[in-house]
Amino acid sequence: MWHALELALRLILLLARLALWTLGTLWRGAHATYRLVRIAMAWRDITAEVRQCPRGHDVPQLGLFECACGARVEGHVFDPCSVCGQSAAYVPCGTCGLPVRNLVAP
Ligand SMILES: [Zn+2]
Ligand SMILES: [Zn+2]
Repeated sequence: MWHALELALRLILLLARLALWTLGTLWRGAHATYRLVRIAMAWRDITAEVRQCPRGHDVPQLGLFECACGARVEGHVFDPCSVCGQSAAYVPCGTCGLPVRNLVAP
């Protein structure tokens, strides 16, 4: 009798874990697909040499930039810094200071 109960309980726990794992996997898959579609749709902006701030000023994405860690780096503004490894979440417009967002950042 107790043996059967224990077996049933184990089965229920196993099914619950299986259901959680399935839901987690589906969620991760949906999240990854959503990010991929977002990046694909913004691809032209992501790879452009110059983007516009919310007020329409040109903001270069290639050149010399200063990382928050203080290092001066050359290349794409949203590439990871060669010193600290961080990539910027945004770059301020040189004219008005409004942010131009990193479209690849989560
Ligand atoms: Zn840095
Ligand atoms: Zn601006």
